[in-house]
Amino acid sequence: MAKIPNLKVQCPCGREINHPSEYKLLLLKLEMKEIDILCPNDVCYLRELGYVKFDVKDSKLIFKEAAFYPPFVTWNASQLGSEKAEELLKLHLRILISEVMDWPRIKETYFRYYTAAGERREEVSPEGSEV
Ligand SMILES: [Zn+2]
Repeated sequence: MAKIPNLKVQCPCGREINHPSEYKLLLLKLEMKEIDILCPNDVCYLRELGYVKFDVKDSKLIFKEAAFYPPFVTWNASQLGSEKAEELLKLHLRILISEVMDWPRIKETYFRYYTAAGERREEVSPEGSEV
């Protein structure tokens, strides 16, 4: 096993990210089975650094793919060299998905949303008699 590497990368806004747990995760696109990876800096001009996509099968969430967007990747490549940046960012995604992300909570949120939408639809009376 290799030594624990220095995980530091940087957003083009200047914010250093020392560990994947520093990213903010946004569940706004959960409906589209997508989670946004945001810069920890609230006033970052880039904001969205990447995404995580999942699939749903047999009431389970299955990880599909994750990636960082080109501006973030290119910036780090220019700072660290493209090989090192690629390696580090891949590691960031792996740690983010396997250790940082709270999949049970994401799953609960995802299914609660769909259940609620389904119940609301059933509330509509087929007769439409009660006004
Ligand atoms: Zn930023």
